[in-house]
Amino acid sequence: MYCLDREQWQNYVGKFAVEHFLPVSSHPEQQTDYDNLVYACVSCNLTKAQGHVPDPTQVLLAGTVVVHDDGRMEARTKEAAKLIDKLLLNSEECRAFRRRWISIIRLAQEHSRELYRELMGYPADLPDLSRLRPPGGNSRPQGIEQSHGARRQRGELPEIY
Ligand SMILES: [Zn+2]
Repeated sequence: MYCLDREQWQNYVGKFAVEHFLPVSSHPEQQTDYDNLVYACVSCNLTKAQGHVPDPTQVLLAGTVVVHDDGRMEARTKEAAKLIDKLLLNSEECRAFRRRWISIIRLAQEHSRELYRELMGYPADLPDLSRLRPPGGNSRPQGIEQSHGARRQRGELPEIY
């Protein structure tokens, strides 16, 4: 969500987790609020910790940030710049990681459509949300039909994202 890392690029479980956008320590009432949950890599989650940052679902969008070939993220708004700065998204490590993956994806795109789909597609094991029972019940049962798993079952999920 923050650094542009993807599950499909990792080889171990636990690299990604559901993060509380507003920390539970200061907003315990929002611990299970769907709008307060962000899927993020552990590194971004640890960097953010208990801090308050701009909402990535609002400020890290195609029109507000550009990712250059050298891996650098360029903010087009003050809020995007603030988020990039606070989460160290332009650290040498983050830029090198993105630069490497941009090159790998370009090679896959040119030489292996199958590998390209694997790297840029959704995970094979998307959860079936209709089978899950969150604590306190599902406050948005209508969202199940819009989930990626349900869209894949209907053949409506794009091949890549
Ligand atoms: Zn991250």
